[in-house]
Amino acid sequence: MSIRVGIGYDSHRFAAGRPLRLGGVTVPHTHGLAGHSDGDAAVHAVVDAFLGSAALGDIGQHFKDDDPRWKGLDSTVFLKGVREILANHGLEPVQVDVTILCERPKIGPHVTAMRDATARALGLEAGAVSYKAKTNEGMGWVGKGEGIGAIAVATVREVGSP
Ligand code: MG
Repeated sequence: MSIRVGIGYDSHRFAAGRPLRLGGVTVPHTHGLAGHSDGDAAVHAVVDAFLGSAALGDIGQHFKDDDPRWKGLDSTVFLKGVREILANHGLEPVQVDVTILCERPKIGPHVTAMRDATARALGLEAGAVSYKAKTNEGMGWVGKGEGIGAIAVATVREVGSP
């Protein structure tokens, strides 16, 4: 069985007047994240990690950010989309590990819901999806609370041609 690994990164600015969507769930906070879709930087990093594992480019190439279909959209739709793209290339998701870079709000209380939402959209068990978070100890744009970043590493396996 052949295994491939990919890495993904994303960041979005905080924006007033939007719900904060992260890891496929709504997290209560004073600000949401700017973006054409729901701005879910964590899910976008996951999508890029899976696309990277298959050397299939990045999220912007598959889901154009000027496409009216994606405006305000729940980004877990992109997770379902990437699962299809992988299947079309004889690959299926195995697991993903995500680190969210975020000064506020606290992510810990939402990790279980994020794992469930992400796993459901990818067709995985929650045990195959990991979310954790780090503050940046007040340093840089994360530390100043300008936005949220996310890094993901994902594994896929070859299942043969569809
Ligand atoms: Mg993004």
